[in-house]
Amino acid sequence: MWKGMGLTGKIILAMALGILLGLIINLFNLNTEGSFVYTYLTNGFFAIIGELFINSLKMLVVPLVLVSLICGVCGIGDIRLLGRIGTKTFFIYMVTTALAITTAIGLGVLLGIGKGMNIPTEAAFEAKSAPPLMEVFANIIPSNPISAMANGDMLSIIFFAVLLGISILMVGKPATGLVKSLELFNEVILKMVTIIMNLAPYGVFVLLTNAMADLGLDLIISLLGYVAVLVASLAFHFFITMMIILKVFSGLSVKTFLAKMREVQIFAFSTSSSNATIPITLRTVTKRMGVDNSVASFTIPFGATINMDGTAIMQGTATIFIANIYGVDLGIAEYLTVILMSVLASIGTAGVPGVGLIMLSMVFAQVGLPVEGIALILGVDRILDMLRTAVNVGGDAVVTAIVAKSEGKMNLAIYNDPEAGTKEVFDGHIDEDSEREFSEVFTDGIMGSEYDNIDRRA
Ligand code: ASP
Repeated sequence: MWKGMGLTGKIILAMALGILLGLIINLFNLNTEGSFVYTYLTNGFFAIIGELFINSLKMLVVPLVLVSLICGVCGIGDIRLLGRIGTKTFFIYMVTTALAITTAIGLGVLLGIGKGMNIPTEAAFEAKSAPPLMEVFANIIPSNPISAMANGDMLSIIFFAVLLGISILMVGKPATGLVKSLELFNEVILKMVTIIMNLAPYGVFVLLTNAMADLGLDLIISLLGYVAVLVASLAFHFFITMMIILKVFSGLSVKTFLAKMREVQIFAFSTSSSNATIPITLRTVTKRMGVDNSVASFTIPFGATINMDGTAIMQGTATIFIANIYGVDLGIAEYLTVILMSVLASIGTAGVPGVGLIMLSMVFAQVGLPVEGIALILGVDRILDMLRTAVNVGGDAVVTAIVAKSEGKMNLAIYNDPEAGTKEVFDGHIDEDSEREFSEVFTDGIMGSEYDNIDRRA
């Protein structure tokens, strides 16, 4: 049965099995330190497979963003258009994030979460310092692009790639060969993404087993009010607000969008990282939804870095929850500050696991809430991080689709084809025709006849 299944089917099945196994481990308390399951499975074999899977995704992020963005800028070919797409995208990202946090604050206030709750508040929380926002802006221009790439500083990489692309455009015709090579290289990296995607069922399975095995069910129940309002706000924002925005501003089918996003959201959910999901998001919006690379290569990495609707929702809900627990009254001015701070914080929040919580201390400090309060929600944050990351990447894709459609940079035939981008799977075999063609070019074309006598099997 496994063999005949499509990749999406396999990933969904793996996710369900992982959740099930994790919950069994958790319910029967098998994951205690020193136990067999803990030593050899959750902290042994599964941990290694999970790490390998996440690394294989991260491995592709920097080369893919760099190359696809240079190609994207060259593909647009018009610097003014590039500026317009950039401004438009930035504006919609910020507005949707503000909408997200307003939903969270609205629901939180309406339901009065945390009011009358008796939670011991002496917990201590050592806030890690969030990078000052000014530093985030100052570092947009890298002093050393190689170290920016080595560190995966997304905004710096985006800046460098855009500048490089513009400069290639300025060189003009003599640079066509370079652009063609880069476009080919981009296709090659996308093939790497296809190969890595085939590991997804195994990666997703182990990551979800481990996450669920760690789940503090007691804790979730004791914080049910917070968890429920947060989950409701996330669902409302993505399935209602964002889908209305998608329909109104692009006219695209919501059903098709949600179906094509499923895989991306499972990746985001299991890795808790928008950054690590970039290769999958980029491949999905270009190959499965028909967005032109000239738009997606910019909007997706940019969104993974600065657009965090799910994280902003968590920050809004957490603010109301902790304020109510500590009996702090927040007025309109404080709510507006929270909205502003969360939007700014989402710019500074890198798309990696758990940083949303670190940025929360910045929001708390602004409205005078005790930063120790964060300790109360720390225990349930792992699972909520998974959910909010799925909403974060969802927002990136919605805005990408809207911007691409409005600029006429979307192929609707691809968008409306449910099969688009699904046929290309890697089963360990290279297509024989390509293999033959390639070896012909390799022997006759590129290398010349002097290599003809070499036995390539050696
Ligand atoms: N894990 C989130 C992301 O990668 C960020 C966060 O909220 O912690 O999008």
